[in-house]
Amino acid sequence: MTPFDITQFQPKAWTILSRAYAADRVAGTYLFHGRDGFGHWPLAVALAALLNCDKPVRSDLPDGELRPCGTCRHCRAIYNLNFQGLLVALPLPPVKTSDDAIEITNEILANRRREPFCRLSATATTNIPIAAAREIKRSLSRKAPDGITRLALFDRMEKMRADSADALLKMIEEPPSDTVIVLTAERPESLLPTIQSRAQRIRLERIRPDAIEQYLIQNYDLSEKRARLLARISDGSLGQAIELIDSGEESDTSRRAVGFMLFKALLTEDAPSVVAHLAELLNPRDRGEAEDILRLWQSLIRDCSRFAQVGEEQELTNIDFAADLKRLSTHFVDSRVAAAMSARIKISLADLGLNVHILGSLTALVLRLKASVEAAR
Ligand SMILES: [Zn+2]
Repeated sequence: MTPFDITQFQPKAWTILSRAYAADRVAGTYLFHGRDGFGHWPLAVALAALLNCDKPVRSDLPDGELRPCGTCRHCRAIYNLNFQGLLVALPLPPVKTSDDAIEITNEILANRRREPFCRLSATATTNIPIAAAREIKRSLSRKAPDGITRLALFDRMEKMRADSADALLKMIEEPPSDTVIVLTAERPESLLPTIQSRAQRIRLERIRPDAIEQYLIQNYDLSEKRARLLARISDGSLGQAIELIDSGEESDTSRRAVGFMLFKALLTEDAPSVVAHLAELLNPRDRGEAEDILRLWQSLIRDCSRFAQVGEEQELTNIDFAADLKRLSTHFVDSRVAAAMSARIKISLADLGLNVHILGSLTALVLRLKASVEAAR
């Protein structure tokens, strides 16, 4: 695998880590948190590489913060996930024997070697096995080999059972010498408070669309247009963009993602930029796509409105967008907004059946919907 340049994907998180390194103040335990697909794993791997790199180099970050060279003996071993100082515990699907566990772990690692940004949530995992955690604890109780800083990564710590996590508390509080522990989680609050308080939090952010676009073009041989589309609809998660690659241009998943992205823009961005997104993302000749998107909007409006009135997550139809819908529901506190928007969309759906100009009709609709949202403010 070609070493990725982590500074392109998580510049803020990397700045914190590399400054700590330069000042010789690397924390004993870090907690990397943020949505799956933002790059927790690549960030941890890059940190392991920096800690062991023979000759770190200056990066393109504003202050030229250091990054691993990617080519020295240690860097190569680490980026190939074949380094004795890199210890990982991963959540696995239920397994019968420890041999099965090893086999599945190796499969996951092989995938990560190929694609460090791939998401864990794409696979049916349940728990970090206690045996894996114990094994790491045992290895760390021995002295680190000379000249090596170990990094022990507990990926998706929220997937470790509380009693197993409890057994690691002492180690997390005070890692052995020459050792850095990295925990990852989507939400820090999902971890035991005793664990949260012992780790330095590093928040991962949405990856910039242009960085996602470049990565997809270079590593997946996508056209610029397709790469840009996926970058736009994946909402900063490179892992999600990668999953959407195989979904095909006309597929439900990517259409759904486009529809949702536009819906979100409708509520949070100004009219000209929503219209610009429309022109960019919509196929002006695909009537079916336009209709699908409008039907999705109707269903999203119903969800937001219901959540604003009742506040029950279980009531949501579009559960895959639950977190966003809850946030967006604040626009629907006044139930007349939903009613006005739905009525407008209904008219446009009828128009679309009458051979109207697709993009023109949707642009007009967006302006009217925008007006309904603004009126309620
Ligand atoms: Zn190096």
